Amino acid sequence: MSEEHHIDYSQLLSQLLDEKGELNDTITSFLYHLFPEELFVRAMSLLDSNDMFIYVYDKLQTESKHIKSISTEPDEPEAREALSGTSNEMLKTSEAAESRPDAGANSKDIAHLLYEGREAPLNRLIVKPETPESPPICVDLDHWFCSCEEYNCQFRSNLLNVPEQPAGPVDLEESSLYSRAIVEHELKSQAPHSDRFAQVKSLHLQFQRYFRHELAMCPHLLAFAILLQTSSAILMYFTHTNATVYLITVQNLDEWLKLHLNVIQ
Ligand SMILES: [Zn+2]
Repeated sequence: MSEEHHIDYSQLLSQLLDEKGELNDTITSFLYHLFPEELFVRAMSLLDSNDMFIYVYDKLQTESKHIKSISTEPDEPEAREALSGTSNEMLKTSEAAESRPDAGANSKDIAHLLYEGREAPLNRLIVKPETPESPPICVDLDHWFCSCEEYNCQFRSNLLNVPEQPAGPVDLEESSLYSRAIVEHELKSQAPHSDRFAQVKSLHLQFQRYFRHELAMCPHLLAFAILLQTSSAILMYFTHTNATVYLITVQNLDEWLKLHLNVIQ
């Protein structure tokens, strides 16, 4: 589907912080009305909950010694706990990591890398499970996906179970899942959008692709989009100044794979 108009959500959400680096109340109440189902309020309370984790695999930085590991030294007991479970231990571990003197400089470097790096480092976005029995919630911003029930319900009813279009070659193409879910911004004759919000990975350089987030969005996606699709200042605010979101570097491939296994199981 081609676009008709474009609102720069990244730019709007970037204004969450005023010049002093504090939350801007006027913008906050405007954003409250911009998203349905109280999504914005729920995303903001998630950002304050200490339940959100951004794991970044940072091999190159390890090699160049620019950044010290927060949590992956093999002999650190709290690091093993972080990667061996998805319970409250994750939170305790991260608190320990964040209280170290080098944590501030580290998160600044990683925040910079996530926003300004030529290629963003591998990252995994996880929300602590609501109960010890339930699995952790995994978010994939690059594909605008969340593993939670709310997102999957919306995806099913707004994108999968829509009535078939009348038969015909043009309609057939129009009704494909891709065309229902994605808006393309063609770059051959137009300048690129600065908006990163709900932008999905595109292998074709002539297009920017955006997920139609009005069809499927949950508080987890919105909260991580606020962190990672706005500005590094916002990311730093929640991971360092406010310190309610954990930004954890993983520098050892084995630990990175272990993290994956533990999240999947
Ligand atoms: Zn979700």
